[in-house]
Amino acid sequence: MRLALLGVRGSTPAPGPAFVRFGGHTSCLAVLDERGVPTLVLDAGTGLRGLTGLLDGAPFQGSIVLTHLHWDHLQGLPFSPALDRPDARVDLHLPGEHPAEPLERFMSPPLFPIGPSGLRGSWRILSTASGEIEGYDVRVAEITHKGGVTHGIRVSRGGVSFAYLPDHSPQLGSAAAEELAADVDLLLHDGQFLAGEQGIADAYGHATIPDALAFAERCRARRLVLTHHAPGRVDDDLDVLAKELSGVAELAREGDELIV
Ligand SMILES: [Zn+2]
Ligand SMILES: [Zn+2]
Repeated sequence: MRLALLGVRGSTPAPGPAFVRFGGHTSCLAVLDERGVPTLVLDAGTGLRGLTGLLDGAPFQGSIVLTHLHWDHLQGLPFSPALDRPDARVDLHLPGEHPAEPLERFMSPPLFPIGPSGLRGSWRILSTASGEIEGYDVRVAEITHKGGVTHGIRVSRGGVSFAYLPDHSPQLGSAAAEELAADVDLLLHDGQFLAGEQGIADAYGHATIPDALAFAERCRARRLVLTHHAPGRVDDDLDVLAKELSGVAELAREGDELIV
């Protein structure tokens, strides 16, 4: 599988010259099929706008699966030209039993000019369930975070698998997440906070880097890529971190492609 990292920032976008090497867009990951076409997308942060470039002028026709509905995982949804066009086909998978309801709150005046039904194309809003999505075996499990239901996502195809847990606090309990991510070839995990920031990580339901390393070891993940970088963590800080973690974990960079 080929994964295109379209947004690796947490909480809020981070534009500006100090953020060009790792990128400032919030959470979004596209899975490319054998033709190089993105048909499965995980999360719809502002990085979702990058989907248009991957599609080379074609409409998006596939599924978007959201880990959860926090702004940094949703805000790109109404702003991606590849989705908002008459020939687009979008199956939007959201956690929770009544998935359309929070989306309609998020996208409604005076918070936003149009509702979800104002987006062009053929849209379906679905409650995420484990099963086959766009030819991939997709499994989800509720994991520990704060502020609503959050899913971890595992995607498998052709004997390889990766797990995507951009917002996760292993400190608050990690049994379901460990089972979901067991023996994955690649784990993309929350690495928003440093060891000295454990208090704030716990308060917001996120991981410190040591939390993420320990979790990856418990899962026996073969490769660990840390994502959801703090919005204030400039490129120079992330370069230092990447060097310190060399041989143990990598840091996600917007624009990178990962092969699983
Ligand atoms: Zn987030
Ligand atoms: Zn979150």
